[in-house]
This record gives sequence, C-alpha cells and structure tokens, in this order.
Amino acid sequence: MDDCIFCKIVSGAIPAAIIYENDYVVAIDDIHPAAKVHALIITKTHYCNILELDPGDAGALRGIHQAVREITRIKGVSESGFRVISNCGGDGGQSVPHLHYHVLGGQKLGDKIL
Ligand code: 5GP
Ligand code: ZN
Repeated sequence: MDDCIFCKIVSGAIPAAIIYENDYVVAIDDIHPAAKVHALIITKTHYCNILELDPGDAGALRGIHQAVREITRIKGVSESGFRVISNCGGDGGQSVPHLHYHVLGGQKLGDKIL
C-alpha cells in the first residue's frame, strides 16, 4: 500500500535498521520503545491486522514464530522472558494498520504496557 509506513519500511523506501529478516517478515526496533527491548515484527505482505492473515498460511505463521525465536535470542531475552503483543483495531489500540507484533522484554513487564 502506497501510504502505509510499514510497507515503506519493508520495501526500503524508508530506511530502517533491520535486526532480523526472513521470507515473511522484517524486524526493527520500535521508534518509541515501551521497554528496554522493544522490537516490531512486520509482515512483508500488507495485512491490516491479525484477522486478515489466513490461519491456514503455514508459511507466514512459521515465519512469524521463527522471528520471535531469533529476535529474542538476538536481544538476549529468550531466557529472562518477554511478551508478544499484536494490537488490533480501535479498542486494541492499534495505531499502524499493517500487521505487526511487538516483542517486549529486558525488564520486568507490568500488567499495563502498550
Ligand atoms: P501499534 O500502536 O499499531 O500497536 O504499534 C505501532 C508501533 O509502531 C508503535 O509502537 C510506534 O512507536 C511504532 N512506529 C510507528 N512508526 C514507526 C517508524 O517509522 N519506525 C519505527 N521503528 N517504529 C514506528
Ligand atoms: Zn502496509
């Protein structure tokens, strides 16, 4: 989508420091970190939200979960613990309508974050 900021990051139109990439996703650090570790896993395909991703799309689901494994290892939080969040829609607090997952950690996370 032409006016989507995450599509522009995926395409390279907006430069970003990629911390991990596979066939299905790219991962970057969040520009406004809500925790010491705050990465975003962004799908290469433009889905508006988690409900647009076909649950039968085994490749994409594998790519997302592989990214969680690799990013938490790269960031050093796979042992200490972390949280994965995908906000959806207005009540979910989604501000960028392109499917992404927040990976948060590096500190004790409270009940209310994001
Ligand atoms: P949402 O509110 O949709 O769940 O999460 C969107 C996230 O994207 C926010 O945490 C926000 O800080 C982050 N974000 C928005 N624009 C950019 C950007 O241009 N670069 C990066 N690295 N993060 C962004
Ligand atoms: Zn997009």
